[in-house]
Amino acid sequence: MTDRIFSVAIDGPAGAGKSTVARRAAEALGICYVDTGAIYRTVAFAVAQSGVDCADERQVEALLSRIHIRLRWTDDGVQHSFLNDEDVSSLIRSPEVSQLASRVSALASVRRFLLETQREVARTNSVIMDGRDIGTVVLPQADVKIYLSASAETRAKRRWLELREKGLAEPYEDVLREMLERDERDMNRKIAPLRRAEDAVLLDTSALTPEESIAAILNIIREKVAI
Ligand code: C5P
Repeated sequence: MTDRIFSVAIDGPAGAGKSTVARRAAEALGICYVDTGAIYRTVAFAVAQSGVDCADERQVEALLSRIHIRLRWTDDGVQHSFLNDEDVSSLIRSPEVSQLASRVSALASVRRFLLETQREVARTNSVIMDGRDIGTVVLPQADVKIYLSASAETRAKRRWLELREKGLAEPYEDVLREMLERDERDMNRKIAPLRRAEDAVLLDTSALTPEESIAAILNIIREKVAI
């Protein structure tokens, strides 16, 4: 294992399997996994809780100055998101928060507010960070960049199964439609849209099991970083 701090950026649309493969690859390498979507979800949750109109950037900005968001990791590497010292990790996983996260994340003030938090983690730890703009904006100097994708049907099916496991039964068609809406918004927003960085390796996981995706990711990382 190298002693130097290195970073791996994994971007891609919803349901591409980013969080599962990033978390397990980080575990295999003994480094920190940072789920940046959870930070946007925490902001969205705060917006919903406060009753602020997410279309009114001034109201959202004022809210940001009043809230405190923090990430913490348990010994087994699981990330927890705190809003004003309350652990909101499970509360931020609902379909409503997913949609709201994609709306608030299009606001310049929200992205500005969260940029430093994300960079700071990577300054002091080796990380695998996943999101939408990690390779393009947050960590443009990342040692490894990967763009993870899969067909829309595969991604929606995975999301649907994930929600069902959590007891959130939603019709598959709704999951697919909401996912496509979210991707459309994430890819077409003015600031930091989801796109593949020019130097990112493209990995399509449609036909891969989670284990095969993790193995592929670890190969890409080991090839680029001498570990
Ligand atoms: O990855 P996850 O589905 O949890 O992300 C929720 C939403 O947060 C995304 O749809 C996207 O709008 C936003 N996001 C972002 N930039 C990131 C990570 C997430 O805009 N780096």
